[in-house]
Amino acid sequence: MTDVVIIGGGTAGLSAGIYARMAGLSAAIYEAGSTPGGNLCGWERGGFYVDNCIHWLTGTNPAADSYRMWEELGVLGGVEIIQNETLYTCEYRGERLSLSCDLERLRRDMLSLSPEDAKETERFIRAVRLAQGASGVAGKGHDRGVTPSLLLRSAPAAIRCWRMTAGELAARFRHPLIREFLAGLLTERFGALALLVVFATFTGQNGGLPRGGSRAAASRMAERFVSLGGRLYVGKKAVKLERRAEKIFSARFADGTEAEGGSFVVTADPARVFGSMVDLPMPRKLAKMYSDPRLFRFSSVQCAFACEGTDLPFRGDFIFELGSDGAALGARRLVLREFSHEPEFSPEGKSLIETMTFIDEEASLMHISRSADREKYAESKRRIARDTLGAIVSRFPGLDGRLTPLDVWTPATYRRFTGSEAGTYMSFAFTKKYLPVMKKCRVPGTENLYLAGQWLQPPGGLPIAAKSGRRAIEEIIEYDF
Ligand SMILES: Cc1cc2nc3c(=O)[nH]c(=O)nc-3n(C[C@H](O)[C@H](O)[C@H](O)COP(=O)(O)OP(=O)(O)OC[C@H]3O[C@@H](n4cnc5c(N)ncnc54)[C@H](O)[C@@H]3O)c2cc1C
Repeated sequence: MTDVVIIGGGTAGLSAGIYARMAGLSAAIYEAGSTPGGNLCGWERGGFYVDNCIHWLTGTNPAADSYRMWEELGVLGGVEIIQNETLYTCEYRGERLSLSCDLERLRRDMLSLSPEDAKETERFIRAVRLAQGASGVAGKGHDRGVTPSLLLRSAPAAIRCWRMTAGELAARFRHPLIREFLAGLLTERFGALALLVVFATFTGQNGGLPRGGSRAAASRMAERFVSLGGRLYVGKKAVKLERRAEKIFSARFADGTEAEGGSFVVTADPARVFGSMVDLPMPRKLAKMYSDPRLFRFSSVQCAFACEGTDLPFRGDFIFELGSDGAALGARRLVLREFSHEPEFSPEGKSLIETMTFIDEEASLMHISRSADREKYAESKRRIARDTLGAIVSRFPGLDGRLTPLDVWTPATYRRFTGSEAGTYMSFAFTKKYLPVMKKCRVPGTENLYLAGQWLQPPGGLPIAAKSGRRAIEEIIEYDF
């Protein structure tokens, strides 16, 4: 009998598998999809490689706390880290502002753009500096530590961010571009503290990109698991966890096979586990998150385009206001992404452009219900590609005639490929007045059922998923062995 049976081969499941093997436990991962990785993925289209996950990976600085975890998981270590100069650039009414990897540079850029916002800018930069000093966020050696004077001077600014949404923080600034820059990355409804963490991570040189992108990172984790003696099965959708009293004794799969185990770790969206895969109610603390009015789920509609030529009018991630084009796409802004840092992703002489429009849960569910009618869904994807291409060309007329749609994917795609209830790819948004803490993995009322994955701590993301997998194994060792 396998010591640890893991349902789901995304980042959390692979992490649980690797840490189980490192602890000397036998482990098997059962993944519903045809490849491991879950949301950490990418795919081929028309000679291009479409990368769908890592915009920044927290923990790429060798001096940072989570670097060691990524090394143990095979994601980093012997892999080149790409540290781009900027994380994103925001454009508004003809002006641009970028999040530079140098915090002092960002400070100077904000001050020169809007001297009248000097007081707010200094406060915000101080709060980022304080967040940099918080353990694990910025790479050690790239932050200045938390001195008593920094703490005294900056704590009020950081606490103020905890109390506000990104939209409320943005509204404190007079300059429209700075407002758009602060609200546009995560959208207005996110907590300003979440924004602070992203700024601190990137300017702390701890949010780089592992060479090869998302799919390569997932493959390295899968290889590491198998090389440690773990067993990885794909195309195995778990449909039932069989229970006797407080103990799960086997997992049943859609193909009729079963797997017995000593302990079970489930990494799927809990909304699709409790009351269906397992005949138990969702643990109270988790259920509270699903009904907490402060927390919300979100997703994106995304496209990939092939572009003739390599001379693009923007670099990295680029956010701009859609204006009248926004109505058709149901969004205010469009996020563009180019991959000149990864020449292998495109054929010679061409470029890859990906786009994202953030949408709320209601719009996500609409895409999911529309996908039940294949014709209607295919038509809606063609329309999305057309409208997105139109929006790009109306902003950059020089790209007219150079773009060809490669792919469109929506919350319905996420629901189909990862099983998340609302077609989301992260967990709940990190909102104001909320301090996310990782929930316990062991399911109360059971002896050997554990959860892992991004749903245990808003807003999800790769480090949280990976840490939850490690924690599930720590709890298994504590309780079951
Ligand atoms: C476009 C995009 C951009 C992102 N950008 C970043 C970023 O820059 N930085 C960052 O840190 N994070 C980012 N993320 C988020 C990150 O990818 C996720 O938070 C993380 O991958 C979640 O991992 P997980 O293992 O918890 O869940 P998942 O990735 O959802 O994995 C769960 C796995 O379980 C499988 N499964 C579900 N149900 C069953 C079942 N019944 N039986 C068997 N298997 C099952 C699924 O197929 C899936 O493979 C991004 C994600 C996307 C899509």
